Amino acid sequence: MNKTAVKSLQRILREAEAYSGEIDGLRGPLTNGAVDSMIEARGDEFPDGTERWSARRRAVACLQRGALDREIDAGPVDGLWGPQTEFAADALATLFETGAPPPDWRDQPVLDVNPNDWPRESVLEESFGSPCEARLVQVPCPWTLSLAWDLRQTTEHIGCHERVAESLRRVLQRVYDHYGEERLRELRLNRYGGCYNCRRKRGGSSWSTHAWGVAIDWDPDQNKLRWGRDRARLARPEYEAWWQFWEEEGWVSLGRARNFDWMHVQAAKL
Ligand SMILES: [Zn+2]
Repeated sequence: MNKTAVKSLQRILREAEAYSGEIDGLRGPLTNGAVDSMIEARGDEFPDGTERWSARRRAVACLQRGALDREIDAGPVDGLWGPQTEFAADALATLFETGAPPPDWRDQPVLDVNPNDWPRESVLEESFGSPCEARLVQVPCPWTLSLAWDLRQTTEHIGCHERVAESLRRVLQRVYDHYGEERLRELRLNRYGGCYNCRRKRGGSSWSTHAWGVAIDWDPDQNKLRWGRDRARLARPEYEAWWQFWEEEGWVSLGRARNFDWMHVQAAKL
């Protein structure tokens, strides 16, 4: 639990009249004691055996319970810190900071323009040639990328189809100007999941857009193929600008358009 999450926990405990200490984000004896009081007072709303969990796990369970009380989906009250709990913790922080839950960013319209005339996925060969034969261009990335499958390896370039290179370069520059190196790292947008890959679609027989080098994956660990916006990190409001820069160039986020494979963005229309 980070400091912000502990502060939210302390506010939950205070509102439950279990805690009268400071909202300081430090989980000390007072906070831990209040966690135990809340679990005891509402025993039937916690799983059996909660009282035998570690102090940290009990604290996370109270945070989850507090989120559910406020109609924020924290998943099951299991005391485990996964992506769903992290999402709930972010929403709680917004709620306590602003008095309202995060705006309904799920309903924000996807920008559907096509200034580069990207082809439809079904007719990629007409525009981009045969799969697995793309002429690749190395586009420099303004921030340092780490390979998602081996974070010790870094790269300064993305190798993509020559036809999308200029557009990609513009997107990367806008992203960099907006977020800056440090924020990009915090948002895990330095975790590069690859572009060109001569392969078919996962769970399908047609060629993947990666086979032309016109698709890029970002932070695959936190945006798994089958995850929807309730779990995928790239679905969060702090990535709104990120997606806007891609969509202004006509790129398509499968997450935004279809709510799966949030890691993936492509220069091809659906
Ligand atoms: Zn992909």
